[in-house]
Amino acid sequence: LTMASVRVAVRVRPLNKRGKTFSFDFSYDSTDRGSPIFASQERIFHDLGSDVLKAAFDGFNACMFAYGQTGSGKSYTMMGDTVSKALSDFSALSKSDAVSFRTEVSYLEIYNERVQDLLNKRTTATDGGCLRVREHPRDGPYVENLSKHLIYNHRDMEDLIILGNANRTTASTGMNDLSSRSHAILTISFTQVKCSAKNLNWSKYSFKVKIHLVDLAGSERADATRTTGTRLKEGANINKSLVTLGSVISALADLGVGGQSTNKKKQIFIPYRDSVLTWLLKDSLGGNSMTTMIATVSPADVNYGETLSTLRYASRAK
Ligand code: ADP
Repeated sequence: LTMASVRVAVRVRPLNKRGKTFSFDFSYDSTDRGSPIFASQERIFHDLGSDVLKAAFDGFNACMFAYGQTGSGKSYTMMGDTVSKALSDFSALSKSDAVSFRTEVSYLEIYNERVQDLLNKRTTATDGGCLRVREHPRDGPYVENLSKHLIYNHRDMEDLIILGNANRTTASTGMNDLSSRSHAILTISFTQVKCSAKNLNWSKYSFKVKIHLVDLAGSERADATRTTGTRLKEGANINKSLVTLGSVISALADLGVGGQSTNKKKQIFIPYRDSVLTWLLKDSLGGNSMTTMIATVSPADVNYGETLSTLRYASRAK
């Protein structure tokens, strides 16, 4: 042993026994087919989508979000063929007493707090792609001039999703990876006409519900501090929508089931108007509507930080 050399040692401590734990209503794995929590697209629909469809038939609006970092499976989950197929499969519930149904689909994108129609390229080209969000005193927020497309079966729905996704991609040419920086909302409006008999008088009445499937911008953009330079405004806007959505859902979660405060004295302000995303979804968040958030995460250890932040975000919604 010589005293002249510098000795360098590295010591690795054992794994921390106290791992992070979260609890959610559902959790799924995609790797091990034999696992009891393995989830195919069919299972996701069975567990989460079918209740949305039932609620819609009973007259309740619904909203489903996918939140997570880019590449974690948001589009696969929200716009995947099985889910959209199943959601448009209204024949499964045709034993309803309605005399007629009408199902319409619209598909839009929110980029930099601006709304674009993904199913009507003409509006996209002429007015710089921007549609106005307005609020009707009775019917609530809506997008002016947004195209609506009547569908009769899941084929129609699939075609519209393919068209919308293609428009989303086209818009991103020359703009690196736009889809990860925008929110896409697929809205299914469903109108039922029913008959009722009151005092021997038959009358027809109709009611309309909306189901929104929301593919959010990549959550890695949620941290505004990492955004610099020309991306600053865009980053701040993405951040604003995701942060506002988190605050809205968490405020609604505090209100409890059905949006009724458990403590009558507790006045909770829901900041819907703080972002275009939450403003547009106002009627389908809280109140009597059914809100579902699916947090998608990557199994790779390099994504540990993003995964942890996604799980934190999702647990705030509980
Ligand atoms: P994101 O929308 O979050 O950016 P994608 O939905 O595009 O991510 O998913 C990234 C890739 O991983 C796609 O090729 C997709 O088909 C695949 N993928 C995502 N989730 C799953 C899953 N649960 N099972 C199989 N493949 C998946």
